[in-house]
Amino acid sequence: MGCKSLEEVEERIQRACLRSGRKREEVLLLGASKGVQAHRLRELFQCGLRTFGENRVQEFLKKYEELRDLPLDWHFIGRLQSNKVKYIVDKVSLIHSLDRRSLLEELEKRAQARGKVQEVLVEVNLGGEETKGGVEPGKLKSFFEDCLRAKGVKVLGLMCIPPYREDPQEVRPFFSLLRRLKSQIELEFGLVLPHLSMGMSHDFEVAIEEGATIVRIGTLLFGPRG
Ligand SMILES: *Cc1c(COP(=O)(O)O)cnc(C)c1O
Repeated sequence: MGCKSLEEVEERIQRACLRSGRKREEVLLLGASKGVQAHRLRELFQCGLRTFGENRVQEFLKKYEELRDLPLDWHFIGRLQSNKVKYIVDKVSLIHSLDRRSLLEELEKRAQARGKVQEVLVEVNLGGEETKGGVEPGKLKSFFEDCLRAKGVKVLGLMCIPPYREDPQEVRPFFSLLRRLKSQIELEFGLVLPHLSMGMSHDFEVAIEEGATIVRIGTLLFGPRG
């Protein structure tokens, strides 16, 4: 335990950045901490990790309270039910999983009520997997039109959870597709989307080579879950 897992991930991120001619500062390491107890997050904070992403609202709220004394940056990365939005809008800096209009409307309502702008990523379903969330690539443009009308919601980029492949190289086409979709949206709407949230424990190096700006790492940092 200790800081070793973080140091190893950090080294691999640096090497992937070097290989692909990118700066280390361009890539944010997010600790995907679902199922991990608060004291482990505290340990990793002491090792230098600041950003954590949670998947379940209930579990997040508990850790949020337990770790209130630390200046953590919380993201929400899991599927989000509209009726839970009100519990998290004033606690997370970025929601990675905006994927439908009903959720957009709820975010707009709750953010406006608090006089804030909620920063989000639009999750894209690249593999056509029905069990996963995400907007289909073909519907992304029209979804963005709605997003741009919402004054309380600011889209900073795209996120994906591609289908699992034993060989991480086989995930590369999904990552490069997400990067191209981002470029298309930027061109279409004349805006800049700073973030691509892609890459997990087994494929983050490929994701960095393809332009990831946020990698979400769980297993490598915290060990296998339950
Ligand atoms: C669990 C999770 C991760 C991290 O997965 P690992 O394979 O454990 O690194 C990343 N993103 C999301 C959305 C997750 O739910």
